Amino acid sequence: MEGDIEKIKVKNPVVELDGDEMARVIWTWIKETLILPYLDIDLVYFDYHILNRDATENRILFEAAEAIKKYHVGAKCAAINPDQARVEEFGLKKAWKSPNSGTRNQIGGTLFRQPIIFKNVPRILPGWIKPIVVARHGFGDLYGGTDFTLPRGGKIYLKYVPHDGMESKEIQVCDIEGAGAALGIFNTEESVRGFALSCMNFGLERGYPVYLGTKNTELEHYDGLFKNIFQEVYDTQFRERFEERGIRYEHRLVDELAAFAIKSSGGFVWACKNYDGDILSDMVAAGFGSLGLMTSMLLTPDGKTVLTEAAHGTITRHFRDHQAGRETSTNPVASLFAWTRAIYYRGLFDNTPAVQEFATTLEQACFDTVEAGFMTKDLAVLAGSGPWLTTRQFLAKIKESLDRTLSSRD
Ligand code: NAP
Ligand code: MG
Repeated sequence: MEGDIEKIKVKNPVVELDGDEMARVIWTWIKETLILPYLDIDLVYFDYHILNRDATENRILFEAAEAIKKYHVGAKCAAINPDQARVEEFGLKKAWKSPNSGTRNQIGGTLFRQPIIFKNVPRILPGWIKPIVVARHGFGDLYGGTDFTLPRGGKIYLKYVPHDGMESKEIQVCDIEGAGAALGIFNTEESVRGFALSCMNFGLERGYPVYLGTKNTELEHYDGLFKNIFQEVYDTQFRERFEERGIRYEHRLVDELAAFAIKSSGGFVWACKNYDGDILSDMVAAGFGSLGLMTSMLLTPDGKTVLTEAAHGTITRHFRDHQAGRETSTNPVASLFAWTRAIYYRGLFDNTPAVQEFATTLEQACFDTVEAGFMTKDLAVLAGSGPWLTTRQFLAKIKESLDRTLSSRD
């Protein structure tokens, strides 16, 4: 089959970040069976294998992030985030910092977590028939906060001292009788504006409405900053294009939005403040079922740089089986979508519709395969269906379906 298909030329490179363990094994299988035979593509390769990160003392992360900033599209395989046990397992020089947050922080932008939904794989919440995309603001809030213990009664003040020497301002937070604790958090206009831009750009590309949830009734100024900036960004830069696509942006109270989300059929972007997003992204992921179906994507505020990945880890337990020579039934769907979404955006940025179309055709082949009843074990268990396929058998089914579609178009 491959021999008689003419490869589609991809204009600009995609940065590939290879990873560890079982995720690395399926990453390569996908690349070799479903990507390289069909695309004439230049992959700028960085190896995040734990031993290579150790050998380069994590410089590889920096170099890869620079390459993503240069070429604007990256696809990342899951990689080990080393702890002390991994230091011993691999004889590492030290527990190097996370390959995930390291690369993300250098690129900037917002992380969007998005499930892949198959009609015949039930969700915990069956009403969720379309994805709920959780966009988590990755800056400030509790994660940039300062907290301390109050050993006895006293007063707490917030004091603001402007850099330009303008008059400082002090307000009393409380005056308490007994012991307690206090917390100070902050955010910046710049970061919230970037977050708003990322969310609107994502919604526009995906054709999903965007909802921001805050508690501005309680936090008039802090949550008000989010509410006001989102509204301003929408009104000045996105309203017209949203209306053309038949979607909209709305601010809602976060508790009302949470209740709405549970009852909804999905199909929207949920913009969350940092702490809300930490909780809600895990809640939404659990509601959709399998880790093997959750993808994530980093998108910069200007909408011009993306890094795609699967939300799961390196699937160590399956890798032990693989090392012992046993075939595993590891779900490759989220990793496959990391590849296809990167290729889709590559086509979008290069203005090469044939490349975008290949990405969506491959995704459709994956839908057709699963919806025809061919699945890995995790999905078969959820669907309560019969025998499952090994990862390689499953990928072969997807390839059959892809080849059928492509040859029917000739
Ligand atoms: P994990 O790799 O996500 O796997 C946990 C369990 O979830 C697996 O044992 C498996 O359950 C199930 N699972 C996850 N993905 C699956 C898939 N595609 N198909 C089928 N089952 C799947 O989490 P972990 O074992 O806690 O972490 C392993 C390593 O990954 C750690 O070193 C961690 O640092 C790293 N990690 C990396 C990333 C990243 O690169 N973004 C994210 C998270 C974790 P069963 O065993 O029941 O089949
Ligand atoms: Mg969390």
